Amino acid sequence: MQRFDNARDAALTLRPDDPVYCFRPEVLKADARRFMGLFPGKTAYAVKTNGEPMVLKALAEAGIEAFDVASPAEFEAVRAASPRAEMLYMHPVKAQSDIRLALETYGIRVIAVDHEDEITKLSRVVQALDIDPGTIIVFVRIQTKGSAAYELSKKFGAGPAHAVELLRRLDRNGYKVGLCFHVGSQIADPETYERALRSADWVRNRAAVPLAGLDVGGGFPAEYGHDPNRKAPELPSLEELMARLRADLDEWAFMDMPLVAEPGRVICAHAFSLIVRVMLRKGRRLYINDGIWSSLSDSWTGKITLPARFIPDPAIRSRNGDKSKIVPFKVCGATCDSVDILSRPFWLPETVDTGDWIEIGHIGAYSMSLRTRFNGFYPDTFVEVTTPFEQGGAPESFASLETMA
Ligand SMILES: *Cc1c(COP(=O)(O)O)cnc(C)c1O
Repeated sequence: MQRFDNARDAALTLRPDDPVYCFRPEVLKADARRFMGLFPGKTAYAVKTNGEPMVLKALAEAGIEAFDVASPAEFEAVRAASPRAEMLYMHPVKAQSDIRLALETYGIRVIAVDHEDEITKLSRVVQALDIDPGTIIVFVRIQTKGSAAYELSKKFGAGPAHAVELLRRLDRNGYKVGLCFHVGSQIADPETYERALRSADWVRNRAAVPLAGLDVGGGFPAEYGHDPNRKAPELPSLEELMARLRADLDEWAFMDMPLVAEPGRVICAHAFSLIVRVMLRKGRRLYINDGIWSSLSDSWTGKITLPARFIPDPAIRSRNGDKSKIVPFKVCGATCDSVDILSRPFWLPETVDTGDWIEIGHIGAYSMSLRTRFNGFYPDTFVEVTTPFEQGGAPESFASLETMA
């Protein structure tokens, strides 16, 4: 991979027409170590956030020894990056053949369920393979109510009484049992974890079976940019959030059991920026070479404002407008799909023109993992960059990716 000091150097050297992901492995490792230093248990990186081999490898080098996986492709990616890493198969709804693959081929012994039919599938595989259920920890996923930017409890999780039943059934069948939840992504309110811990405590007391662990899931927020025309969102820092979580874990007496967290976004968001090129400027509209079907997928980045840096093409000799004036541009994506328009503007100097580049910061989470091959556009160029995004001078602009929803 080619290395550059910063994205501007990469853009001006390569003059890329395709989007370029700027990978900062040292930022990734530092953010992983920061999380591990703050969380009083095992850190299992959520592979879906960004499962690129370079990411998994750098995380293994940083000391991440466990990975939250959900599919055979993720088992394989983790195994390729780190032969010794532990995998936690935390998808509550699984194909029986995938459970078999997990247990038989990948030696996975930690698994999540939220329904009795999932226990049936698991038990069929355990019997067929003649595995002692006592060597498997089954985490029962409980429903939580949260205030995350992305709420996930509508989809997964057993209600408290149901979770009690599942724990007892698993315990009777000889499994080790734990409790897990996932409060959603980019959570803003520290109370969210506390509420989940309170339900976990209720379930534990009712079930009255020994617990082998508690998994608090992911959801830890990454710092992004903000729109200067709006009130800055009040986000607790990771240090504050973690201090609160540690105090809550202590208060609800979970500190004496093995703890797991499954961070995704907070670990990899800052490790990448993205260089996009302006294919065409048409008035206050920019057509860029990325979009909602590539790295700017609305489904996950939908409520986030990303910092952006203008990289003017020095080959453009004459420009119209005032370069110190920052104005909103409507941004159209690369595909021919009419929905491929970001519904919130990018704010850029008035002088931006066809051929210029824009570096979008903090794009490491839920970007390249969600890109599609729609219309034949599939950004897949990577360079390594050494300077962290924030150290490259204040970004003069920002890309707000918020959509209709
Ligand atoms: C997506 C997911 C995560 C990671 O979430 P982040 O908000 O990126 O930290 C963790 N656990 C589970 C079960 C998930 O589905």
